[in-house]
Amino acid sequence: FDDRDGFIWYNGEIIPWRDARIHVLSHGLHYASSVFEGERAYGGKIFKMKEHHERLLRSGALLGFQIPYSVAEIDLACEEVLKVNNIVDGYLRPVAWRGSEMMAVSAQKSKIHLAIAAWEWPAYFSADARLEGIRLDFAEWRRPDPATAPVASKAAGLYMIATLSKHAAEAKGYNDALMLDYRGQIAEATGANVFLVQDGKIHTPIPDCFLDGITRQTVIALARSKGYEVIERAIMPEELANTQEVFLTGTAVEVTPVREIAHYSFTPGAITRDLLLGYDEMVRKPG
Ligand code: PMP
Repeated sequence: FDDRDGFIWYNGEIIPWRDARIHVLSHGLHYASSVFEGERAYGGKIFKMKEHHERLLRSGALLGFQIPYSVAEIDLACEEVLKVNNIVDGYLRPVAWRGSEMMAVSAQKSKIHLAIAAWEWPAYFSADARLEGIRLDFAEWRRPDPATAPVASKAAGLYMIATLSKHAAEAKGYNDALMLDYRGQIAEATGANVFLVQDGKIHTPIPDCFLDGITRQTVIALARSKGYEVIERAIMPEELANTQEVFLTGTAVEVTPVREIAHYSFTPGAITRDLLLGYDEMVRKPG
């Protein structure tokens, strides 16, 4: 992914994509003092830009560091990245990390770096897979207790179990993994939140040990505005037996129907379709 044309915003400057490098002694690499964002541009406009950049600063603060740019500065930087790369519909990846100024667990005086890349990325899963619904396996790893890790931070370190879980699912032919939490309740997929439809009502886990996704919040509001009842509650995996529809939400996956979770199967139905189309319409609305 590093050897290509294009430009990356790096600590306030636009530099060639290939030159956007870090030192091997970066604290972020050794000790996971790194946070990031994932956001999408539709028709040249970044959806929920302010929310993403507020979350980026909050993610850093939860790891004990202050990113040395304001929300407004990061907004402008992202718009510049789209412009210099000629991207209208794409994905943006801001990432902040502690640098290589100090090499020890304690690195209070290290510099906080920020880089922003963007690339064209039409859909996380292919259009066919999206309409048919994707297949998930249960992950072996569980989302940690909020007393174990700063779970509300979009922190790189929390993605170690996501990559392990996704690789294990892919090795068995699945698209992604569904993670339970430390209590055994349904939590989320490796990079997206999860919703269940039971008897016409929409149920989703309470985000107390995983990200309360910006797409999750958007889809809950959209569903309620369409008159659906949305219930946030603890959900055990056994309940999948009396669930008719399942879908994921996230910046990258948007609204993605799920047709299988291990031995449970579902038929992406009217409610999933309604929200999928409603979300598509909302993000692509000009202005
Ligand atoms: N959970 C995880 C683990 C994620 O990586 C993401 C993607 N950022 C989400 C949920 C969904 O968050 P959002 O809707 O803000 O993209």
